[in-house]
Amino acid sequence: MAQELRYDNQTVVVTGAGGGLGKQYALFFASRGANVVVNDLGGSFKGEGAGTKAADVVVDEIKAAGGKAVADYNSVEQGDKIIETAIKNFGRIDVLLNNAGILRDVSFKNMKDQDWDLIQTVHVKGAYKCARAAWPHFRKQKYGRIINTASAAGLFGSFGQCNYSAAKLAQVGFTETLAKEGRKYNILCNVVAPIAASRMTATVMPPEVLEVLKPEWVIPLVAVLVHSSNANTTGTIFECGGGHMAQLRWERAKGALLKANESLTPGAILKKWSDVNDFSECEHPDGVADMMTKLEESMKMGDNDK
Ligand code: NAD
Repeated sequence: MAQELRYDNQTVVVTGAGGGLGKQYALFFASRGANVVVNDLGGSFKGEGAGTKAADVVVDEIKAAGGKAVADYNSVEQGDKIIETAIKNFGRIDVLLNNAGILRDVSFKNMKDQDWDLIQTVHVKGAYKCARAAWPHFRKQKYGRIINTASAAGLFGSFGQCNYSAAKLAQVGFTETLAKEGRKYNILCNVVAPIAASRMTATVMPPEVLEVLKPEWVIPLVAVLVHSSNANTTGTIFECGGGHMAQLRWERAKGALLKANESLTPGAILKKWSDVNDFSECEHPDGVADMMTKLEESMKMGDNDK
């Protein structure tokens, strides 16, 4: 039987831990020995209001079960204060779960700047501020684990959620870059697109579907990714929910290579259009480097067939 993964002597910061997925992360990591910072602003799912109760209830539950936790009521926009809570109370931070989030669903036609801005602020700036404040600690101790939270809405688009989709796909680019910059300091950073029953999804999914999508079923994958035994998986996207989990990656079609000179016309591209879109032969790029070899090949080619 596999050994139980433990997080003793580690500090895990969970943003948006007052409910939904965040609450389950907090309960899980506390039950496995970690000190947990239970951050939650305590507002509505649309980002209105604030309160201390959401975080307090979770901290009480952890303490009642014999675990160690402290509440933090800051908005993720004040990520530095949240990380300070970890350092002040537990002296360190090992794992950051950027989980807090809100929705402002509205069709693009009716989108207002306020709906757009608030979503970017909470999801994009919030994840940045928390990671930025944790980063020097991670670098100094040569250890850190970050999970950023994306969404199928960001990966595939979703009607009425263009603000949220943009913010959620931003988590992917953010994660990929942190993974590259953090690698040599043993800072691993992955992104999870969860699907789970919560107040966020209660209005958009039928009850029988919500029943099999308990947030609890997302936690174990994240637990594996942020454990010290994971030494290699970084910069990776996972979708996870209802017992399903799978890695996602970019796929590049076979593509066409044309001479980069005046013969590169729309007509020349149309002649190669099926190759441009041919996924029967594909690559899985994870950086820009392999584009450079194509550039070298293109330089050696003759003029294109216009
Ligand atoms: P939830 O509403 O139950 O939990 C989000 C928590 O974040 C709430 O407790 C809320 O108070 C807190 N929060 C909101 N704004 C905050 C802020 N500025 N600072 C601190 N805390 C704040 O929703 P959930 O479904 O558990 O979502 C958790 C994360 O997973 C979110 O990032 C969400 O976008 C993402 N997600 C969820 C699903 C899903 O199916 N539930 C799907 C895709 C992505």
